[in-house]
Amino acid sequence: MPSLGHYPTPVEFLEPFSHAGSSLWIKRDDLTHPIYGGNKVRKLERILVRARDNGATTLLTLGAIGSHHVLATTVHGRHAGFQVEAVLVPQPRTPHVVETLEASLAAGLVAHSVSSWARVPAAIARRLGPHTAFVTVGGSNVDGALGYHDAAFELAEQVRQGQVPEPDLVVVALGSAGTAGGLVAGLASCGLRSRVVGVAIADPPILLRAIALRLARGCVDLPRRALAERLLVETGFRGPGYGFPTARGEEALQRASFCGLLLDPTYTAKAFAAALDLVDRRAARTVLYWHTLSSAPMAPLLVGAPDLE
Ligand SMILES: *Cc1c(COP(=O)(O)O)cnc(C)c1O
Repeated sequence: MPSLGHYPTPVEFLEPFSHAGSSLWIKRDDLTHPIYGGNKVRKLERILVRARDNGATTLLTLGAIGSHHVLATTVHGRHAGFQVEAVLVPQPRTPHVVETLEASLAAGLVAHSVSSWARVPAAIARRLGPHTAFVTVGGSNVDGALGYHDAAFELAEQVRQGQVPEPDLVVVALGSAGTAGGLVAGLASCGLRSRVVGVAIADPPILLRAIALRLARGCVDLPRRALAERLLVETGFRGPGYGFPTARGEEALQRASFCGLLLDPTYTAKAFAAALDLVDRRAARTVLYWHTLSSAPMAPLLVGAPDLE
């Protein structure tokens, strides 16, 4: 199978947000795919190959109703010829959440909704079958994290070519932890000194950290300590919890929009707020914000979508 995404994704200097002595850069993983990009594309690379190699015809996954992972799995899984089903759990409704769900349904998702996370395991168990590949929440198994291990090597090559200075800190949203875990593994092995700041957007942060490090250890054969020292977890931007917009996130979202950078309230507004805070405090010389939200236009994905408003 040829690769799903378009790599390398660009790196750019975010001049308007930089200061003398502390510069902000962006890694444009919003551009991983022209139809639906974002971080889930890299994770799906190996997940789809393995499902096909195992003879699966259906992908079964789960997520919150506005899950980008569910949308990415539906768009790219359907394109690869799979039937795609997901068990969906409620989350605070924002226009972005509703639009993402509508797009998933328009892309052919077979949705099974349940009232809480506690009901997910039974709903999954009922639908597992011999030709069904289960894809874990956020696509964050080792196969998924390996996509971000590879992405760290892609960044190292861009540093080598002089496209971006070597980052001191790489800032990324920390949700199901595959992105941060894979980056930790890749950065610890690709020759860069960069550390990852995982901006916790869910609870509890200590568990997110443990999951990220477990995934990192699944990607590379390095001592736990070598990985643990690469990962800092930032807990100050989560607000009341997963999916709840925050004032600092909204402010970051506004500031980013002046420069044409689109953020979402659940993940990237909080991560970008943390990145801005680091450069505003001159906490590091070079901060790389790793953008994880698709910037592909939503309108084509909404053609034929049910209206859920
Ligand atoms: C899923 C997602 C994340 C979180 O990535 P994880 O690997 O689950 O930690 C961050 N940003 C966006 C936009 C996402 O959709």
